[in-house]
Amino acid sequence: MLNFRSLIFLFSWSILLVENQAIAQNTIEIAPEISTHFLQQENYIDSLSDYRKLYKRSKRIQKKEEMLELAFYVALRYYPELKDTKISVKLKKIKSTMMAQPDADFIVKSRNDRKYRILINSSKEFNGMNYEDLSFNSLVGWIGHELAHITEYNQKSNGQLVHFISNYLFSRKHLKHTENSADKEAVKRGLGYSLYEGVTFLFKNPKIFKNYKERNKEYYLSPTEILAEIKLTEQKNK
Ligand SMILES: [Zn+2]
Repeated sequence: MLNFRSLIFLFSWSILLVENQAIAQNTIEIAPEISTHFLQQENYIDSLSDYRKLYKRSKRIQKKEEMLELAFYVALRYYPELKDTKISVKLKKIKSTMMAQPDADFIVKSRNDRKYRILINSSKEFNGMNYEDLSFNSLVGWIGHELAHITEYNQKSNGQLVHFISNYLFSRKHLKHTENSADKEAVKRGLGYSLYEGVTFLFKNPKIFKNYKERNKEYYLSPTEILAEIKLTEQKNK
């Protein structure tokens, strides 16, 4: 039997679900000229088995969830140089929606044997943006941002990478520069509209705590800056 508290709980959840639907629709309604660029899962789903074959040796996904797996592969198509790079996707309780890092043993391995992982937050009590709430297009955009980090790590020697990580951890200026560069790289690769939807979703979502949004504002490109970068890239490619 449902008691009164369970009813209140269910009621508040149903409100959140309705709100989330409204956000998803708004992103498309606010900017219809932008949403025509959004990637649709149904256009890629038939390629899933080909992607699995293509990345069989080099990529591992801990959670066999179709949308997450497909979004990862689709984002990878924008970084052809990472085809043979060893990358695994794991779910873990972390303090952001996702993050990319080299495996801890990188220091004792050669650069060619280096492995990377993209960690995706699995905590249900997380105050930030849950990956399960993202549209396919936004998920590709956020994963594209993480892959931009991996391409940067991949260009560094072990010593350079140690130096880079310590700067990232201890310098806010360096952190901002790194996050801005990853956003710009994702846009350059052609994932600007995916990133745009992902960031817009973050700011419009009432479920996400204010301090998480503030942190994003401080270190990442805003939706307006992403649009400006998209224009720049499009002009350069003309
Ligand atoms: Zn980042």
